[in-house]
Amino acid sequence: MQDFKFHNPTDIRFGRNHIDAELHDAVAQFGNNVLFVYGGQSIKKSGLYDRVKGLLADLNIVELGGVEPNPKLASVQEGQRLAKEHDIDVILAVGGGSVVDASKVIGSAKFYEGDPWDLVIKANGADRNVLPQVPIVDILTLSATGTEMNFGSVITNPETHEKYGTQGPNSPAVSFLDPELTETVPARQTAAGSIDIFSHLTEQYFDRDDANDASKGMIEGLMRAVIKWAPVAIADPTNYDARANLMWTATMALNGLVGAANEGGWTVHALEHELSAYYDITHGIGLGILTPRWMDWVLEDKSTVALFARFARNVWALSGDDDAQLARDAVQKTYDWIASLGAEMTLPEVGIKDDTYFEAMAANAVDHGKLIKRGYVPVTPADAQRIYRDSLVAFRGAN
Ligand code: NAP
Ligand code: FE
Repeated sequence: MQDFKFHNPTDIRFGRNHIDAELHDAVAQFGNNVLFVYGGQSIKKSGLYDRVKGLLADLNIVELGGVEPNPKLASVQEGQRLAKEHDIDVILAVGGGSVVDASKVIGSAKFYEGDPWDLVIKANGADRNVLPQVPIVDILTLSATGTEMNFGSVITNPETHEKYGTQGPNSPAVSFLDPELTETVPARQTAAGSIDIFSHLTEQYFDRDDANDASKGMIEGLMRAVIKWAPVAIADPTNYDARANLMWTATMALNGLVGAANEGGWTVHALEHELSAYYDITHGIGLGILTPRWMDWVLEDKSTVALFARFARNVWALSGDDDAQLARDAVQKTYDWIASLGAEMTLPEVGIKDDTYFEAMAANAVDHGKLIKRGYVPVTPADAQRIYRDSLVAFRGAN
């Protein structure tokens, strides 16, 4: 097992209605000037917007609404301007991963004089880890990303077709995780969030370190939870146990714990970020299309069969003596589960009709995702193009 450091100080408040008694002090401990960041209409429709405003009525609230899915650089730039102008002490992010991700980078950008894109791509000497960061308090409304308890953000620059992850010095200071607040997430978005959770787990599970049984075992348990509860939440959106299991699984899948001793290839995320950067599609849906094709391609390297057979037995409860057959069946099970959630399963269904940008996307993914060096199976640009092309047509089953 590899050496690692693991430090994650996020204060989690999990369960129904903690915000009513605890939100005010959780925010006010950092100061009075609050930047309240949110997305489109969902928190206004659900009443959460009014509830938050009521709870914080004695603080100075500056609002940044309209943060988009796949949060755009322009929102971060506007947040930077507001944070400087109003000398913001604390950011309250209320929404899904996009709102929390944008808030984290705004928290760094308050202390940076240049364009916040520099902070994302580490240009012009910019480094978030040597800058201070405004503390983040969040109320999460969608289970998916794990951003509520990690150091990462993903920001899109639509002008340059670039979507990249950036790590900051701090995870959120306080995260309120109330599963009831996710009951209004529509079925397709619940599917996308659940596929994102599952993908975070596969990205960390398919790793060369066979000796890391502790992490693999934790990941298998989390995979079984998301596989079980995602269909329940889709069929019965107000099922509290389903929403609660998805929420905690999402947090645990990407708070650094299960990945601590892994190399972690993150191949499918690097490939998906290109789809979102060029076509602005929903992250989890893109992952759901790519993951079975990636697995099918990976299995061509026969050294991966043993781990896929373990995945078949421990995650999909398949049995048998033929590891190669089990491995193929596990890939098919993965495809069938994603499809059963109602997600689109080919690129044309999400508006990506041809291979126009595949060459550029493949080159970017491999370069910036460092896929050759650290992928579970190293990915060249030609391999990446093959995975994109396979995603244009119906899944033919694992080879
Ligand atoms: P999201 O982009 O934050 O939200 C997607 C949609 O769901 C929005 O239209 C939003 O509407 C709606 N929504 C959110 N909560 C809702 C609720 N309770 N009821 C009804 N609708 C609701 O989705 P996400 O999957 O959480 O975040 C995706 C982003 O995170 C992507 O950019 C992805 O690349 C990134 N990501 C980050 C990490 C990380 O570690 N930081 C990991 C994986 C992915 P409103 O705008 O109206 O609220
Ligand atoms: Fe993700």
